[in-house]
Amino acid sequence: MKSKLMVWMCVLLLLNACNLPTAKDPTAIPVTAQPTIAPSPTSELPDLQAFQILLRYDSAREIGTFEATICNMGRSYDGAFTVTISTANGSADGRFDGEIKTFSCQGVFAAESDFSTFGVTSPGMVTVSVTVKVDGVEVATFDEQVDVPQIPVAVDPSALAGLKKCRSFGIAKDCVALNLYEPIPELDEVKKQSGRYIAITPRAYERIAGFLIADMSICERTVGNYLGIPSPRDGMAEIFMVGKESFYFYTAGMGLGLIEPNTTFLQKIASDELDFWKWRNPLRGYCSQAHEMTHSFLNQTPIPIALNEGLAEYLVNRERAHWFGEKQMICKENGFLRDQTPFEEFIPLETPQIDQTRRSALYGTGECFWVYFEETYGHDSLQQVMKLLHAQTVENDLIKYSSYCQASGGENIRFLKTFVEPVIGEDISALTQERFGFGNEYGSCTTN
Ligand SMILES: [Zn+2]
Repeated sequence: MKSKLMVWMCVLLLLNACNLPTAKDPTAIPVTAQPTIAPSPTSELPDLQAFQILLRYDSAREIGTFEATICNMGRSYDGAFTVTISTANGSADGRFDGEIKTFSCQGVFAAESDFSTFGVTSPGMVTVSVTVKVDGVEVATFDEQVDVPQIPVAVDPSALAGLKKCRSFGIAKDCVALNLYEPIPELDEVKKQSGRYIAITPRAYERIAGFLIADMSICERTVGNYLGIPSPRDGMAEIFMVGKESFYFYTAGMGLGLIEPNTTFLQKIASDELDFWKWRNPLRGYCSQAHEMTHSFLNQTPIPIALNEGLAEYLVNRERAHWFGEKQMICKENGFLRDQTPFEEFIPLETPQIDQTRRSALYGTGECFWVYFEETYGHDSLQQVMKLLHAQTVENDLIKYSSYCQASGGENIRFLKTFVEPVIGEDISALTQERFGFGNEYGSCTTN
């Protein structure tokens, strides 16, 4: 649901943010103070910690395995460490040798292992333990109850066809039709999973998959806290593919990124210079991608499209649910100023056919409605509107392929009358009509 224009705006924004000197980052985690007494022999050891345990399915192998995400919480470390991953019935060692920067993480797994190495031959819950050692000295341990829903990396030809179609055209319907809860069918890709979160990337860029899973779990919490409604029924997936165009969009519980080969972005991922999304954010519990996650919470409710996009943008803010970068949005009476772009006039939200070149105005107008609403009526009122919307969630898979309007039988559920008036106790349609171009008929069946 994110237009290409918006994506590029976000990409530019993120690049700007990335160029900020990290030393001046006021929210940076302070590096643990060094002891003033003579260091003990172990003080030279790097401050490595295990952050999460993932399932790793590689399409070139028959069976999946476990992977540990190991993070460096101290000074940059250039050297080797081993990671022993074990269950009650087996264990295997993985090894990393290279540089791991401060507040950066690496996925480590035992190259020749698969689930059978750990005695896991059927789906179920498994306790997995991780021990990190440097020069034979233990520096971190971690264990987690891991759900293993699938053992083999089954190749499904129909899923492959769908993936290729999705990749070629980027049509949401083809992408949604992929069964994300089956192992990935492409030949050069890796799927990583933790519970309800899945990330799929080309193998060459698999570093990003562990990050995406960590980020999704945090964004689900921050977005859920802000909106005050329960998590969506479905799990969430992020897919990154290398394709002919660059865009990033959301569709039914999944974010999907299609990225050009050989872009700076991919090179940075491959060379461990990923500052596009910084690992330091999940390590501090901060969300980097609130926009698509907001859609995940609302996609099965009767929120009109422009207000859904507006709310998703509204949550992309340090004070709300999203901690990456600093977006500037100034709403005026008749338009808005966003970041470095020129003043844009509001577009009436009831406009049936929006010129594609004005989609960014549609998002901005929707966002300014939420700015107005929360400034005027407060956060509790916003959460009450969300609860009323959530109460009308349609649990119908049809919605993944069409819209709430179609999935609910074509009844136009009016936004102001159903969700706003009961909360604030007044009719504000005259104001919304004048400023944002929608009145009492604006609802789930408005198309734009
Ligand atoms: Zn969107």
